[in-house]
Amino acid sequence: MQLETVKFTSSEVAKYPFLKETTAHVQKIGLDVEDFNSPELTKILNRAEERVKAAILDVSVGDRSSDDVKIPDDVEIPSFPVAIIIALATKNSFIKKRYALAEAKQAHSHFQLESKQRLLAIARNFGWNIELNGASQPPSEFILNFADYLRNITHLRDEKWKLINRFLVNGKVYLNHHDVARLLQEEVQRRLEKRLDAKELPPFPRKIMDIAEQLNSLAKEKLGEVEMESFPKVVSQSAFPPCIVALHEAATKGRHLSHVGRFTLTSFLLAVGMPPEKVTEVFKTFSDYNARLTRYQVEHIAGEKGSGTHYTPPSCSTLQTHGVCVNSDGLCRRIRHPLAYYKQKTISAQPTAGRV
Ligand code: SF4
Repeated sequence: MQLETVKFTSSEVAKYPFLKETTAHVQKIGLDVEDFNSPELTKILNRAEERVKAAILDVSVGDRSSDDVKIPDDVEIPSFPVAIIIALATKNSFIKKRYALAEAKQAHSHFQLESKQRLLAIARNFGWNIELNGASQPPSEFILNFADYLRNITHLRDEKWKLINRFLVNGKVYLNHHDVARLLQEEVQRRLEKRLDAKELPPFPRKIMDIAEQLNSLAKEKLGEVEMESFPKVVSQSAFPPCIVALHEAATKGRHLSHVGRFTLTSFLLAVGMPPEKVTEVFKTFSDYNARLTRYQVEHIAGEKGSGTHYTPPSCSTLQTHGVCVNSDGLCRRIRHPLAYYKQKTISAQPTAGRV
C-alpha cells in the first residue's frame, strides 16, 4: 500500500509533540539542549517544568496560554523533550508514570476533535497499518491491522475491546473514531513510558537537578506527605489507624464496605507494603468475591494495571466527608493522613511490631 506523505504544521507538532516531526522542529529552532544555562532556554525550561508539575498535581500538562498570551510553538515544541529530561532526572517512578499518562490524556482530548484524515495521519506517523473504511457496511470509519490493535489493548479491560466483540475480517479490525482516539492514547503513553524507562542516564546540569529536586518534593506532598520508603519492611497491624482497623475488621468478617471504604483499605494496605496477593485475600469472605476481578482491582490500585497510576489512600478530611473516619484517637488529632498515623506509630512501636 502506497502511503501519501502527510505534512504537519508547527501548531500541530506543538499539539502533538510526540510526532516524528518534533526532532526536525527542535533542530530548526537551533536548540542546544546541552546548554541549559543559556537565557534563551529559560522560557522553554519554565514550560517544561510546568508540564511535569501539572502532571504531578492533576494529571494534566498545564495550560499553554496564560494571561491570554499563548506560548509560541518554538517554545511549546521543545518544552516536550526538555520535560522528558526533567522527568528522567527525578528518577521517580511515580512522576514518570504520571507524566506519561498526562501527555497521553492531553493528546486524547485533541484526538477526539480531529478530522478522521488527521487522525489517520497521526496513526500512520506511529507506523500503524490503518486505512479509512470506504464501504458503508459495517458503519466503522477505520480499518486497523489486528497486530496494531492487539498491541494497544493490553491495558484496556472493558469487554468491548476483546477481539471476540469486534468486527474482524482478514486480520483487520473495524473501529470508530472514538476507538482509534483511545488506542492512540495507549500508544502515546506506552512510547513515553519506554522513553522514561531509560536506565543509562547522563549527568544532568545543575538547573535540571534543582527542578527535579523540587518536583520530587511536590510528588512526596502529593503522595500524602509521607516518606513511603521509610515504612518498616514488615506490615505492622498494631500501627493501623482506627479507620483502617474498622475497615479491615469489616472486610475480614465479610461485612459490606462502601466503594470509598474498599478503595481506602486496599490502597492503604498496598502503601504499607502488603503484597497484592495478600491484599486480595482480605476480601475473600465477601459474598460477591471474585478472585480474578478482585486481583485485577487490587493490581490496578497498585499501579500494575491500567493507567499505571499508583494510588494512595485519601486524606483524613476526605475520609471524614465520606463517613470512613471512625473511632479517631489522640494521635489522629496530630496527623492529616492515615499513612502519617501509621508512620508515627511504627516509629514509636517498631520493636514490638507484629507480622500480618
Ligand atoms: S483521623 Fe484520619 S487516621 Fe484517624 S481515624 Fe480518622 S481518617 Fe483515620
